[in-house]
Amino acid sequence: MDALDAKYPFFASAREAVASAGVSLPDLVAADAPAVERARERVERALLEGTVASESGAFPGESAYDVQAELLSYPIARILVSLLDSDPAIEKYAAAEAATAMDRVRRDLETDDELRSVSTATVALDDLLAEFDLADAVRPDRSAPAGVSGGSRGGAAGGPTGNVAGRDPDHYRIDVGSYLRLTSPEWGDSWRLVNRALADGAVRVTRDELLAALEAAVEERVAEGLPFEDLGESLAEALESRVADLRRLLSERTYAEPPDVVAPPLFPPCMTNLVEKAERDAALSSAESFALMAFLVGIGMTPDEVVAFCADTSLDAEGIRYQTEFLTDDRGTQYPPPTCETLANYGICHNEDDHMQVAVDPLSYYEKRVAAADEVTDWRAERRPDETTGA
Ligand code: SF4
Repeated sequence: MDALDAKYPFFASAREAVASAGVSLPDLVAADAPAVERARERVERALLEGTVASESGAFPGESAYDVQAELLSYPIARILVSLLDSDPAIEKYAAAEAATAMDRVRRDLETDDELRSVSTATVALDDLLAEFDLADAVRPDRSAPAGVSGGSRGGAAGGPTGNVAGRDPDHYRIDVGSYLRLTSPEWGDSWRLVNRALADGAVRVTRDELLAALEAAVEERVAEGLPFEDLGESLAEALESRVADLRRLLSERTYAEPPDVVAPPLFPPCMTNLVEKAERDAALSSAESFALMAFLVGIGMTPDEVVAFCADTSLDAEGIRYQTEFLTDDRGTQYPPPTCETLANYGICHNEDDHMQVAVDPLSYYEKRVAAADEVTDWRAERRPDETTGA
């Protein structure tokens, strides 16, 4: 097992490393090895924050987990997410694994050639293409730019534009068959074949677009085979409490019609507290910022509106945009905001006026307050158009 396998546990070499190490996952679970706690963290952060990176720090180096725990946490996380028995959870988990992996890839690609040659824990673009059998289907395109648009895929295709390290070109050509397999017209008009520069059976893409397409390939691979069937009763029993914790983070509730009115005076106390904390320029924890973003998205705010709403706070626009776009993705897998119980566990809810008795989550509490109010003024209506669109 090496650090590269642990960084990219969906690689075929990582799977082989796990298999050849002869480690028994049920034994690890029974022993409550560090990989089990890391797996729980992996799934929890995937569902709540769209990342599987450890809160203890970046791997390798800053993380509290060693190579073995980091690598083995991946198959255990896949077991945990299978036991959740929720298709949206699997989709969220796979998307978070892919987003985290591509963040790491982007950082690896920024590592200059000299450092890369002495570090075995960085991946090159060629390695990634080979991993997905794309070595022959994707070629660098060093011709002059042809005005190809820089579309992004649901906010997941962030990262630097251009080539920081100077090693990889800014544009590529992908064989049309592979392009169609890797991308979806649902990502936006710029991804439709009719809108692309097509020559000699290949589609021209920017480097960021290629990475976005590879992110989709990673996501597909992570989701492959999930949920596991027939995990066995003893494994399910041994993981029961961890699964119960994760299940509490999920809500089966759906909001056919969210309130779609932004009335800050009617926000529940937990959300008002978070807004005020951010306005005092105090940093929000990741759970706090997720809870606030999920609430604001839940009441119908667009990412631009959330950015404008939080303009004078400690929250930065890029982070807001990433999180809100993730929450409003168009694949129908978004979760409603965490429940009051979950927020209480995170110390975000203090159950003011015992209103947990009247609502199970901040969104339904807000919904009740809006319905009961004589007059409701929408914050958006009070803003000039250019302020709410972020233009
Ligand atoms: S009970 Fe629910 S809505 Fe009320 S403050 Fe707590 S988390 Fe917010």
